[in-house]
Amino acid sequence: MGDCLFCKIIKGEIPSTKVYEDEEILAFNDIKPLAPIHILVIPKKHISSLADMENGDEVIVGKIYKVINKIAEEKGFKKDGYRVIVNCGENGGQEVMHLHFHVLAGKKLGNK
Ligand code: 5GP
Ligand code: ZN
Repeated sequence: MGDCLFCKIIKGEIPSTKVYEDEEILAFNDIKPLAPIHILVIPKKHISSLADMENGDEVIVGKIYKVINKIAEEKGFKKDGYRVIVNCGENGGQEVMHLHFHVLAGKKLGNK
């Protein structure tokens, strides 16, 4: 996916502040944080959106949730809590068409 922003971040063509990386998953700080901690967790496989998951992609999505908990533990916000958001499609407010999980933490978040 040559013109995908997050694929470029995965390849290192665009710099990012990495929080976690393994063979299948990358996590990095959001460039415009909406909370004291705002991390994006993405599969290295290009999946355009939640709506574009193919059979088998549920495995990587499950691993992403596990990685989110690992990051929460390591960064010390597991106990206080956090929020995970996935925007999907136009009405969902998705701007980057590479599946990503927003992890927000570090303050008491508003309702919704
Ligand atoms: P969406 O609106 O698609 O759910 O979220 C896209 C997110 O990507 C936004 O929170 C935005 O701040 C973040 N973002 C956009 N461009 C970049 C970038 O070049 N680097 C990083 N680290 N985050 C980005
Ligand atoms: Zn991509």
